[in-house]
Amino acid sequence: MRIVRYQETETGEVSYGVLGAGELITPLDGDPYGEHRAADGPARPLGEVTLLAPVEPSKVVAVGRNFAAHAAELGNQVPQRPLIFLKPSTSVVGPGADIVFPEYTEELHHEAELAAVIGVRCRGLKPEDVPGALLGYTCANDVTARDLQKPDGQWWRAKGSDTFCPLGPWVETELDPAALRVTATVNGELRQEGGTHQMVRPVHELIAHISAAMTLLPGDVILTGTPAGVSRMHPGDTVTIAVEGVGELTNTVVRAI
Ligand code: ZN
Repeated sequence: MRIVRYQETETGEVSYGVLGAGELITPLDGDPYGEHRAADGPARPLGEVTLLAPVEPSKVVAVGRNFAAHAAELGNQVPQRPLIFLKPSTSVVGPGADIVFPEYTEELHHEAELAAVIGVRCRGLKPEDVPGALLGYTCANDVTARDLQKPDGQWWRAKGSDTFCPLGPWVETELDPAALRVTATVNGELRQEGGTHQMVRPVHELIAHISAAMTLLPGDVILTGTPAGVSRMHPGDTVTIAVEGVGELTNTVVRAI
């Protein structure tokens, strides 16, 4: 099932829905994190509504350097322990939303990532328990002000600025994350390409490691690392993150005003 979150153009009302064949959506009957099914009501074209980020996380937990080729391209080693950091909920935007290029950076990068969505409140998971704790997967762009990572010490601005976490376009609930192609294109040009089989630490192991330290809540998002090929984005660029079996997340970069 593909779960979307959307806003009515006229009233601004926000709802969850189910995306079916022919890009038609029906309202979701129930709670996406509890009992739910596609409602019997009439289906509508996706284009009639505005898609929002499919989840409203309390936190986004991310991992750095989880692909050896990406660590190497920035002159880094693969870390001994997972390099975990947080992106605030206020960095999240949806498909089609602007990525705002702040005035305090000169080097803004895209990072194409598979994002896991937590389905239940959980802590202390074993890797084999992780699939049962997930709602599903979506696409993420872990937008990064590369020139601020080292000078700032902490990555609060480099990774956590407003609009630095596009998510979407929906949550795919039936997906095996073991071997999926992940790409980023900028203005139609392929920049990043890799596969989830290249992860240093696979998704289930990562989430088990994170859940040993912090309670994960329904809707929380885990970014699983980016493959090689990160590159600059500039104002006016259109950036698309694609994850095989999920879909495409497209955003445009705009200069801060
Ligand atoms: Zn990343």
